Amino acid sequence: MDSRTFSLAVALVGASLSLMTAYYASFRRERGIAIYATGYFAAVIGFVLLLGQGSLPRSICLVLANLLILFYQLSLAWGLRYRIGLAPAWPRRFWLYLSAWLAVLVFASYIVDSFIVRAVFSSAFIIAGATEFIVAFRRGPDGRPSAIMRLAFAVTLSFSAFHAIRIALLLTYSTGRATLMDSGFVNSYTFAFTIFFSVLWAGLILIIDATDLLAQLEHRSEVFKSLATTDELTGLYNRHSLYARLESEMERSSRYAAPLSILMFDVDHFKRVNDTWGHDAGDEVLKRIAAISGASVREPDSVYRWGGEEFIVLAPHTSLDGAVAVAEKLRKAIAAGIFPRVGNVTVSFGVAEFIPGEGGDRWFKRVDQALYRAKNTGRDKVVAFGPGDELPVARVSIPWRAEWESGDRLIDEGHRRLLDRANDLLDVSQSGCSRERLLAGMDALLAEIGTHFSEEESVLAGLGYPGLEIHAGLHRELVRAATELRARSEAEGFETGALLDFLVERVVMNHLVSADALFFGYLRGSEAPGDE
Ligand code: GH3
Ligand code: MG
Ligand code: MG
Repeated sequence: MDSRTFSLAVALVGASLSLMTAYYASFRRERGIAIYATGYFAAVIGFVLLLGQGSLPRSICLVLANLLILFYQLSLAWGLRYRIGLAPAWPRRFWLYLSAWLAVLVFASYIVDSFIVRAVFSSAFIIAGATEFIVAFRRGPDGRPSAIMRLAFAVTLSFSAFHAIRIALLLTYSTGRATLMDSGFVNSYTFAFTIFFSVLWAGLILIIDATDLLAQLEHRSEVFKSLATTDELTGLYNRHSLYARLESEMERSSRYAAPLSILMFDVDHFKRVNDTWGHDAGDEVLKRIAAISGASVREPDSVYRWGGEEFIVLAPHTSLDGAVAVAEKLRKAIAAGIFPRVGNVTVSFGVAEFIPGEGGDRWFKRVDQALYRAKNTGRDKVVAFGPGDELPVARVSIPWRAEWESGDRLIDEGHRRLLDRANDLLDVSQSGCSRERLLAGMDALLAEIGTHFSEEESVLAGLGYPGLEIHAGLHRELVRAATELRARSEAEGFETGALLDFLVERVVMNHLVSADALFFGYLRGSEAPGDE
């Protein structure tokens, strides 16, 4: 093939590649790719102009044509630098390459008129352009697949080697009178390899783009995944990801009889932290607790923000004893931590082990119950819901006691009915019934409280009981607290712990045992009432 045909072939291959990259750039909307496309167009024009040797002025078919060909080589480095965000994408030395090349071209075309000088320097500058490409590539994003790294190095090295060999061949075989358009071994070699490498470069830059794009997408999907599964404030996993994991852990535990435990912990008196130091300080405490917890638990255990200032540690392959040990360690670590501004903070733990085959609901009720006990027995402690423990259906269903017998039939019947409604409600709350039934149970209890209090007050009024006013005040206070509990249960969900607290502490212990007992003596006629 003669050099003109070769040159035309190079221009045609270049044209197809420039169209392809331009098209790719248009839908990728990527300026870096548009730069590659521009480079390929420049190369095509360059090779077409080379064909004009003999008919076109030298400034165009030699100087401009060769400048465009070097520009193409530099554009590969330019586009890559732009893509990976190197600044400036077109550094000043690129102008230097072009200016130096212009100087050589002017010298070799007008002063000495030497094809060999032009050809040798052309290859030398092109090697410099290829080196710029690989230098930029090495500064690209970390974690590119090693296969791509090897490919880029292989293309650059073999391309540079091809040009180095061309220089050697030119110096060895070309005579002073040779031109690029001569048919000869060196020119055929040059054109053939130029076609080969122009396709290889195009393939390489598109492969690099595709790999970078893939890495970007993977990174984004990681970001989205982490947004969906982590809690923004603490960086811990959120409740949603606990739910996602629980099913499989419960299934695994049931199938392989592997122990599985949860630790639920709640910051003690956290409202005080917020009230005293402000919400931001509260947030800082939560972050710190999250950091301490994250650092304290071992590998398969994971910490979740359950909500507000409540956290959960899911501990696979961990029995109750093991979980208590983890909880103790964590409790101590938090208690020992210094919280800026706030000082010391403590947390209370409930711990429960999963019983294979049971539902998550019951398991969580037990851990909730254990936490409730930890809170009610002093805080800053770990309470485990042991195998002998039961959910408080039987334990806390409140039995009638002889000493609560007032002697007045109406009052005693009222007290018994009150206790019955309370026990009904406890039953419902233990059996995992619907919210509606729980709220209905609370309504029944509230109605009973209302009826009983007015009956009791009228009996006491009939007797002329001197503490009536104070006692009626206590009644009103109790009704207010019960109504509030009902509203809170409706708004925030039902908490057996809070219900028990209310029934046992407020109704039975404070009211029935302490306050009512004061008028029992009066009713029985054996004792004067004390000050209520
Ligand atoms: P206890 O020892 O019984 O747990 O007392 P407590 O004061 O911690 O009581 P409770 O658990 O009812 O209070 C929770 C408080 O946590 C109420 C709420 O305003 C606060 N809180 C919940 N979420 C956040 C949060 O993201 N940031 C801050 N600063 N406070 C929160
Ligand atoms: Mg709480
Ligand atoms: Mg709390």
